[in-house]
Amino acid sequence: MSKPHIDLVNWYTRNKRDLAFRLNKDPYRIWISEIMAQQTQIDTLIPYYNRWMEQYPTLNDLFDAEEDDLYRLWEGLGYYSRVRNIQKAALQIKHEHDGIFPHSKERILQLSGIGDYTSAAIASICFDEKQAAIDGNVKRVMSRLFLLDETELKKEFTQIIKQKIETWMEDVSPGDLTQALMELGALICTKQAKCEICPLRDYCSARKSDVVKDYPKAAKQLVKQSEQIDVVLLINEKGQFALTLEHNDSLMQGYYRLPTLSQANITEYKKDVTLRHVFSHKIWDVKFHIAHINMSDDFKWVNYQESLELPIITLHRRWLKQKAAFIQSQDML
Ligand code: SF4
Repeated sequence: MSKPHIDLVNWYTRNKRDLAFRLNKDPYRIWISEIMAQQTQIDTLIPYYNRWMEQYPTLNDLFDAEEDDLYRLWEGLGYYSRVRNIQKAALQIKHEHDGIFPHSKERILQLSGIGDYTSAAIASICFDEKQAAIDGNVKRVMSRLFLLDETELKKEFTQIIKQKIETWMEDVSPGDLTQALMELGALICTKQAKCEICPLRDYCSARKSDVVKDYPKAAKQLVKQSEQIDVVLLINEKGQFALTLEHNDSLMQGYYRLPTLSQANITEYKKDVTLRHVFSHKIWDVKFHIAHINMSDDFKWVNYQESLELPIITLHRRWLKQKAAFIQSQDML
């Protein structure tokens, strides 16, 4: 008798994408890919992943990594606490686990920056532990397959799908099932579901009832707060510009940024442009200004070429790239 999970795993075996992190089941490689994949599309993360693995091909290589180097490799991926946590977790593995990646979900969960989903994903994929890894993709698939409404069921929703997946894991490889569910959610059971080519179409309640578009039921969206920020490109007499690590928000710690007007404490400046950066929970509208001043000890002064070696927050980097010719011309004045 055919069963949804067996058909799903068979489909995955035949159709899985040939992705860099599926090369083997090294937990280090899976861990980095899972952390990068949080809030990031697979196509976007692949070049970052490849650069990371070139620089730090094994867990051992990561133990002695320089913080700035890791931040630079991560620059542009966003959600920068992820890279800080990777470094903390690497040190935990080195000091508390004799340099060996822990082998069970329970112990993986103790590592910095690793939550329920990631620990279950690593434990099932790398060690075939029967642990359901439940992210947004998996929730979408399961809510459609069984017509489950998370907005009504709340916490019970996750318990129900966890139980179903872990029961399926009795019959198939837990690692294959985890990846098959992820792959189906990423390629077939997407927002615009491709039911006609789905291996679960004969089992799917939402498809049979013609309500696929209504699932998953949407939770109320939070209104994002917008923040106005004025920053300034301070250029000194040597043509260098100022960067700082000081700021009063908790975003992107360890990344350099241009100082704000109040940090610069100046009155004469020229406005350039306003650029917007949308985070998951807030919006920055950043006005960029330019001013010429004498050297001050409060900042790190760099020329354009030197700035390329430093981790710098994404929006500021974007503007600095636009102004590259102008900044470099200041050297020659
Ligand atoms: S049949 Fe359609 S809605 Fe159901 S699991 Fe497949 S893609 Fe998703």
